[in-house]
Amino acid sequence: MQTTSASITMIYVKPRAGISVNVLAGAACLLTFLLSGCSTVPSSPATSIDAGQKVSAPAFEVIPLGTAGGLNESNLSSYLISPGYNHRYIAFDAGSVMAGLKVAAANDAFATLPVQTDLTVEGNVLTRHITGYALSHAHLDHVAGLVINATDDTPKPVYAMPFTIKTLKENVFNWALWPNFTNEGSGYKLNRYRYTYMQAGEAQTLGDTGCSLTAYPLSHAGADKSSAFLYQCDDNAVLYLGDTGPDAVEGAGQLAGLWKTAAPLIKSGRLKGVFIEASYPSDRADNALFGHLTPAWLMRELDTLAALTDIENPASALRGLKVIITHIKPSLNKQENTLLKIKSELEALNTQGVTLIFPQQGEPFYL
Ligand SMILES: [Zn+2]
Ligand SMILES: [Zn+2]
Repeated sequence: MQTTSASITMIYVKPRAGISVNVLAGAACLLTFLLSGCSTVPSSPATSIDAGQKVSAPAFEVIPLGTAGGLNESNLSSYLISPGYNHRYIAFDAGSVMAGLKVAAANDAFATLPVQTDLTVEGNVLTRHITGYALSHAHLDHVAGLVINATDDTPKPVYAMPFTIKTLKENVFNWALWPNFTNEGSGYKLNRYRYTYMQAGEAQTLGDTGCSLTAYPLSHAGADKSSAFLYQCDDNAVLYLGDTGPDAVEGAGQLAGLWKTAAPLIKSGRLKGVFIEASYPSDRADNALFGHLTPAWLMRELDTLAALTDIENPASALRGLKVIITHIKPSLNKQENTLLKIKSELEALNTQGVTLIFPQQGEPFYL
């Protein structure tokens, strides 16, 4: 079993109002790197680095804007990811945007950005550093932040599979629920968001960033109801999964298809992290999953991935792979802390030895 101390810190420590040590360390190291070639860049918020120890620079920076799988409208799925420290973020899902930016700003997560005289920190990041949105599906807990903040956002692409764009077009940006801030659909088009249709398995180059995005369909109480994104920058990649049920319950085989894509990237060491949901505790009945995973089902899926990665040694195929747990559904029951329950279940079932990361809103980490 392997769990980073970062994950424990992120679970038990509330976001600090003061200076974030890891961000300052990153900023100081970046400055040192620019001046003299420092190579001890922190690879995660709570990873300790001994004096003189050399670690490679992280491939990706992640700033969670929202991490919960429901109930709390100020903390719903959204993750800013940028290659290294370049602060050009793609927002993977957008359940909560401004609420998460405010928490991250209070944690000094954006301390290395140039100070703007005309905008708040969160306004600066929203309008000038989020360069696009990759939406896994159009459920409210994944798009509400984008919809609400569309009024003050700048023009940018929305990357999504056709079924997601169809729902946004017909049911959200239709001048009935909300003005049409997009470039397609009913009525006058405000052209703020440009729909970019993602076809399964076809990489979309992201301008001159050296990065690309590829979408894969997922089954979420039905096939083709959600999607995953493979975000590749140079030789590094992260895999972000939106909501998904287990193949055995969904009967669609879409996770197995995704694992076939991920396996060679793991084998070659290029996949730096997998974002995947664990919505309910493992005692949840299969017929009440509503297209979601439990710790038990998640680990069964990782067993499938391990066998595809190294058929000779599946038990060690995923050792050390960073698995970021998303979309844990909070409970209103006083007696039930689903976060702690799901965390302890995952740790107990982690025979693969993956590194479990439990993100916290506004707390940056590195992959
Ligand atoms: Zn959903
Ligand atoms: Zn959801």
